[in-house]
Amino acid sequence: MLFNYFMPTKVYFGKNILWQKKEEFKNFGKKAYIVTGMRSSKVNGSLDDVIKVLEDNGTEYVIFDEVEENPSIETIEKAALVGKEEKVDFIIGIGGGSPLDASKAIGIFINNPEVNGENIFQLKNLKSIPVIAVATTSGTGSEVTQYSIVTDHKELTKKNLGQSVFPHIAFLDPSYTMDMSYDVTISTAIDAFTHLVEGYLNSNANDLTDIMAEKGIELFGQCIKNLLENNIDYSNREKLMLASTLGGMVIAQTGTSLPHGMGYPLTYFKNVPHGKANGILYGEYLKVFKDKERVNRVLSLLNVKDLEEMIDILNKLMQCDVEITEKEIKVYAETMCSNEGKLKNHPEKIGYDEIYNIYVNSLIKKIK
Ligand code: NAP
Ligand code: ZN
Repeated sequence: MLFNYFMPTKVYFGKNILWQKKEEFKNFGKKAYIVTGMRSSKVNGSLDDVIKVLEDNGTEYVIFDEVEENPSIETIEKAALVGKEEKVDFIIGIGGGSPLDASKAIGIFINNPEVNGENIFQLKNLKSIPVIAVATTSGTGSEVTQYSIVTDHKELTKKNLGQSVFPHIAFLDPSYTMDMSYDVTISTAIDAFTHLVEGYLNSNANDLTDIMAEKGIELFGQCIKNLLENNIDYSNREKLMLASTLGGMVIAQTGTSLPHGMGYPLTYFKNVPHGKANGILYGEYLKVFKDKERVNRVLSLLNVKDLEEMIDILNKLMQCDVEITEKEIKVYAETMCSNEGKLKNHPEKIGYDEIYNIYVNSLIKKIK
């Protein structure tokens, strides 16, 4: 047995956790930069809670609340400009993966004045100002990963910023997710599930990531019935949040693989939410995965009898409403074939034809 494990983020989990651990916010400087999305953090109570804690601690703050879903480099540069002008000391990202990923990127831009949207992808080992993550979706695990996935409109794609920014602290309070819409709940839960599975069926998997992936898959499995019935109580929200954070811890070590690489064009060109974009490819991905022993272990952890039952569950949870042409699929499959970063995480040999077939068989009903 030989492996490395590195996850330097302090994790606080539970109801009302921000207030209980408010002293933690005093350790990063005099002025905080709150980075969040346009609406949800104002509704679910997370923004109010952060403000209350900062005011109680006597910490100054400014707010940037313009992060869109799948954040663009342009938005990140805009936010960084404000942060620099305001001379902020640290960032508190509040929201789903989009504001959290944006926070990490903004932290790098603020800390490195020579960095811009053009050169960031070539530069290496850039450091960020400290980032605290307050997660309000149970999906990406971004609060415990080093990744920042951004939308690059010049290259017409989403990609990893290529820097490593682990948040200093992750705050996880499942109550912020209680009023999440059914669609966002499903898409984010499926994202967490795909992180756990892609980290489990991965070239970089090790005994420690397997332990976390197996626990996370089991937790997701325990929620399936309630997800199908749209009867999602606090205990399910808690399990999904834990599963999502475990998924983040896993992919922080292993990276994601094929379905994530294949899902990005569906999000960029077809507007399919991130989790769903991976999830609709999953049945076909697992069918072509050759190590059936490992796939069967996933199915048994989910407590489903076979792959067909799992596919049936995914189909009930997500409608495949993507309109796509064969020509588009060919381009996506070719792009995936040149995505060495994702391919190397897939532990088996796979070529253009199999990738093309995963797309076709997953999206066939809608091919024009
Ligand atoms: P998101 O894009 O952050 O948010 C999706 C929607 O959910 C937004 O409309 C958001 O509203 C809303 N929302 C957030 N929290 C809510 C709550 N508690 N209640 C109700 N609505 C809520 O979604 P996400 O799936 O969490 O993040 C997706 C992004 O993360 C993608 O860009 C993906 O590529 C990236 N990602 C990152 C990693 C990583 O390791 N860093 C891993 C996987 C995926 P507002 O806009 O108003 O906030
Ligand atoms: Zn993901």
